[in-house]
Amino acid sequence: MSELNLILLGPPGAGKGTQAERLEEDFHLPYYATGNILRAAVEEGTDLGKKAKEYMDAGDLVPDEVIIGVIIERVKNEEASDGFLLDGFPRTVPQAEALESELDDLGRRLTAALLIDVPDDEVVRRLSGRRQCKKNGHPYHVEFNKPKHEGVCDIDGSPLIQRDDDKPETVRNRLKTYHDKTSPLVEFYEDRGILKRFDGTRSPTEVHDHIRATLATLRLEEQI
Ligand SMILES: [Zn+2]
Repeated sequence: MSELNLILLGPPGAGKGTQAERLEEDFHLPYYATGNILRAAVEEGTDLGKKAKEYMDAGDLVPDEVIIGVIIERVKNEEASDGFLLDGFPRTVPQAEALESELDDLGRRLTAALLIDVPDDEVVRRLSGRRQCKKNGHPYHVEFNKPKHEGVCDIDGSPLIQRDDDKPETVRNRLKTYHDKTSPLVEFYEDRGILKRFDGTRSPTEVHDHIRATLATLRLEEQI
């Protein structure tokens, strides 16, 4: 069986987490979201985990070479021998180049970069409509998941609030950062012929079906 070494790209609110969960199930791929695997390395106390912890404790960004080291440590594991799904890394072209050369040293390469595209206005609509209850953080959405009584949690009756991260102006700022960083990355993977685009305005099930069909085709092509 050929490997499926995948990275997920897309703006916040594109449903990457949902797609990752489904792909994990479909293909039994380990899912490496950068934040999670950094935390795991710190907890396991690996050499790289200890290094990462020093930066995190000091409130500094963990440098690229440490993050890539942690990722490569994972990729070398038995669990990732058939492939992996990477989310949140690479974020920049230098990171993408570093990942490429590290994988190359292992005799491996990325199978595809999956880009879930959603227009900015739709991202703003999705994220700025989110609410959560003050008491327990139960999630709601003003359009897609309304409470029975406006502004009140169905479960515990506490008021619904909007997180600062979800305020429209904050979402627009996050999107600007996303575009500035991701556009060159999209070009990078387009140049390598492995960028696959998906219409993130479709339902999660449609997006998932499309991704699965695309990956099945890629696997067939590799076997020829
Ligand atoms: Zn609640």
